Amino acid sequence: MSDLLGRLRGRGWRMTAQRRVVAEVLDGEHVHLTADEVLARAADRLPEISRATVYNTLGELVSLGEVVEVATDGRAKRYDPNAHQPHQHLVCSGCGAIRDVHPGGDPLSDLPVSERFGFAVSEADVTYRGLCPECAKA
Ligand SMILES: [Zn+2]
Ligand SMILES: [Zn+2]
Repeated sequence: MSDLLGRLRGRGWRMTAQRRVVAEVLDGEHVHLTADEVLARAADRLPEISRATVYNTLGELVSLGEVVEVATDGRAKRYDPNAHQPHQHLVCSGCGAIRDVHPGGDPLSDLPVSERFGFAVSEADVTYRGLCPECAKA
């Protein structure tokens, strides 16, 4: 569980009804929604919510470091509340579903020194691709 709401409360984040709905929509496991999906789900709960509020709130959560932007393969940017636990992504090439995964090794230390070209390497993003069970069946 990402417990986004709990983390935001802990930081004393100003929680209006609209901002709370955005945080609630993003809270949970394996949540990687586009801004438009966040807007649609937020509007289901709070029909008067505006696009500007949703987008501004997303931007604020990203700058707080409580939500990370995930870019996959030229598809729309997605918002991931699992911001504090290092993980990689498993992406379905059919429907775009994304799961948080934790490879056995550390992708950062897996890169040999001879392949680092003198860089001080600080981060590694690994994307695993394939078909999810539903797409594999179809
Ligand atoms: Zn799929
Ligand atoms: Zn993720």
